[in-house]
Parts: sequence; structure tokens; C-alpha cells
Amino acid sequence: MRRYLQWRGYEVQYVQNFTDIDDKILNRANAEGTSMQEVSERYIQAYFEDIRRLNVIDASDYPRVTENISAIHQLIQELEKKGYAYAIDGDVYYKVQNFSEYGKLSGRSLDDMQAGASGRVDSEDSLGKKKQNPFDFALWKAAKPGEPAWNSPWGVGRPGWHIECSAMVKALLGDTIDIHSGGGDLVFPHHENEIAQSEVITLKPLARYWMHNGMVTVNSEKMSKSLGNFTTIRQLLDRGVEPNALRLFVLQAHYRKPLDFTEDAIASAENAWKTLKEGLLFGYQYGQQLGIGDWGVGTRDWGLGSRKGKTNTQCPMPHDATCYMPGNPSTAVAPPCPNPYVESFQKAMDDDFNTPTSLAVLFELAKELRRQGNLLTHQGKTDTSSETIQQQWQTLVHLAQVLGLEAVPKDETDAKQERLSNADIETLIQQRQNARKQRNFAASDLIRDQLQGVGVTLIDKPDGTTVWH
Ligand SMILES: [Zn+2]
Repeated sequence: MRRYLQWRGYEVQYVQNFTDIDDKILNRANAEGTSMQEVSERYIQAYFEDIRRLNVIDASDYPRVTENISAIHQLIQELEKKGYAYAIDGDVYYKVQNFSEYGKLSGRSLDDMQAGASGRVDSEDSLGKKKQNPFDFALWKAAKPGEPAWNSPWGVGRPGWHIECSAMVKALLGDTIDIHSGGGDLVFPHHENEIAQSEVITLKPLARYWMHNGMVTVNSEKMSKSLGNFTTIRQLLDRGVEPNALRLFVLQAHYRKPLDFTEDAIASAENAWKTLKEGLLFGYQYGQQLGIGDWGVGTRDWGLGSRKGKTNTQCPMPHDATCYMPGNPSTAVAPPCPNPYVESFQKAMDDDFNTPTSLAVLFELAKELRRQGNLLTHQGKTDTSSETIQQQWQTLVHLAQVLGLEAVPKDETDAKQERLSNADIETLIQQRQNARKQRNFAASDLIRDQLQGVGVTLIDKPDGTTVWH
């Protein structure tokens, strides 16, 4: 989302908050005999490690609840003053029946909702008996013995869960934000409660757009602790799944839809990444052979650095730094001239971030480049002009980068990987014939499989000769 908006010329300020205090963290700290702060810090650091391995750009800001206690106090006091909050025995609750629009995000109405319909409402407030309405939720909770706690106008305690977001949005971004995102499981009550807290104070919409992502399922079942069907990002990466394959796995489903995790889906994402990577490395592999300059092959700085200033005056698309994508500056590329691929990509992404369709554009380019690479290898020439191929490659690299998908050769020899010349293939076929003569079928099958693996099919003729595609 962020990369795409930046590519479209928006300046993005992206704030992501950490809830560094809640019941789960406290329970874990108690179980481990350590502090809430220690547990939070450890998981925050682990999160950063994982997310950076996935090539996710850092947010502009990472506020934490415990750093925003005074902003939280202020907001609760305002709610109290306006008649939307009431304090009982050191707890403070939000009075939902005073907000006539309560339920508008999730399409529920207070009248229709039955008490206890949401587990989260109840588990949040074990002392719920004191509430005037079962859907009133805690803004501030009186401290239990041994819990971390802060002084407040209502006594010693800690913030409720929902208030942190309203307070941090107001403190860091203002009254209305453009996009509020989060998991689909947070629509009710969490986001509903954020709206209730913020909008009665600011009298403005909290967010112009709400983007809720679908949940991850495992073999179509809910991912849950009790089912024991968890796989972590770290486990996948540590077992050798490439970060870009994982990125593809996520992007191939629309973000609002559920994402079904299966071993087959991961394997197919890995295959898809292989195809795409081959396309992204095309310029390194064939650029010199195609004989057009400035493919940037051999220099890592083939992106913005090498093309900047080389404005094509024929091209209406601005070739300037506005399209520069943050991330790895050495791989950033200037935008290609407008072409049907760029247009289809943009049309898909403008339609509520339709990544499955935008990915199809990338694969179309990658497959076309693979075809040209095969022609070049086996027939010595392509059937399209070098200029067109170069533009296709640059378009692919550029658009892939908008989705955070990047590949650079590990070293110079890597650029020539897995490409067999006609002579190489003939040699292997001869070796296979020899193996067959010696009735060493294991060896002959191995050679056939190896060739199959790089897209070469062998056909044994009745006369004993072998031809290949
Ligand atoms: Zn929130």
C-alpha cells in the first residue's frame, strides 16, 4: 500500500503503534517471572527482525502505549467532560448509548446487539457488573495488585485497549486520517470504539477509508493455538522460503479476502517467484548480448543513479525522483515510459489494491522475457527489437519494485546461471546416449530430468537418435 501510494506521487506518513501493555503481555511476564516491559521489548524486536527480512519499509513512527499515557489521560478527561465517560471505583467506561452513531462501521445497532455477543467485550472487563450497559468499554482500568500502573485523575491504573489508538492518532496525525487499516477481526469492537472515542471529541470522521485485511487460514481452518496449526514467518524464512516468495504468496490474494496457508500454496508461490526472478535478472543476463547500452549490467547502480538526468523529452511521464521508491536505493529505478503494462498495473492497483491482477501483468512480462531469452540462447536472435525488450525489462523491474519485489544477481557468474547453449545440450544428450549404451539407466534418467528442469524436453526416436525441444 505504502509503496504504491508513493509511486502514485503521494507523500505517505505511516504510523504503526505497538500495544506494549495488555492482559496477555502481563500474563506472559508473570509466567516467565519477568517484566511487562521485557516481554514487550523482546517481541517488538523480533517483529522488526522478521518484517525487515521481508523487505517491508519501516513506518514513519512507532508510538507505544506506555509513551502516550498523558495523551490518553487528556482524551479520557475530554470524554468525561462531554458526558461520554463515567468513572466507577477507579475504572472509567465509555457510555455507548450516548453516541448515536455507535455501530456504523460494522453495521450493527446497539439495540440489536445482545449482551455477551463479543467475547472481547467481556474478557476486557472482568468487573463488567459495574457497567451501565454491557457494551460500555473500559477507557481506564484501576490497578490490580502487582500490575504496572500510572497515576491518573481516577486513581492508579492503566489504559483500556481502545483508547490508545484514538489518543495516538490525534497526537501524531490529527483529527482525520486518510486510511486506517487493520485486521478484519478488529472491525468490532476495536475500530468501532476508536470511532466512538474520537468522533465525539473532534466532530470529524476519524478515517476517510478503512482497509481491513482478511484473516490467514490454514488448510481452510482458522489458525489457532488450540488447533496447533501455527507457522511463523520466521519458521518459513529459516527453512529457506525466500522472502519474495512469501511476499508473492500474500499478494496473490486480494487483501480483503482470507489468505489460505497450505504447503501447496507456498510451493506454488516459490515457483512463481522463480519465474519472476528470472525476468528480473534478464537485463543482467542478456543486456550485453542484445547490444544496447545502459542496461546497467555490471554496475549495481543501474537504477535512479544511472538514469537520473537522462530525461526522455518524448516521454510525458516525469522521469524524476518523485517516483523514487524507498527501500534499497541501489536498486531503485526510474519509471519507464507509459505503456500498456504500466497502465494495466495501475488500473488494477487503483481498484482497491487489486494485487492479484497487477501481479498478472508482471508475469506476462516475465514470461515474454523468458521466451526472448530462450530464442536468444537457441536461435541466436530475438523476434522483437532490443529496444522493446529493454523497455519490457525495465517496466518489469520498476513495477515489481512497486510491490517490493526485487532481485539482483549475487555475483557476475550468477547472471549466466542455468542457461545451456545448444552445444551444452548436445553434449548432455551424447552423455545420456553413452549411459544408455552401458545400460546405466539411472544416469541417463538423471540427465533427462536435469534437462527437463531447465525446460528442455528430449524425444527418443525409433531409430535410436534423440531430438530435443
Ligand atoms: Zn487500534
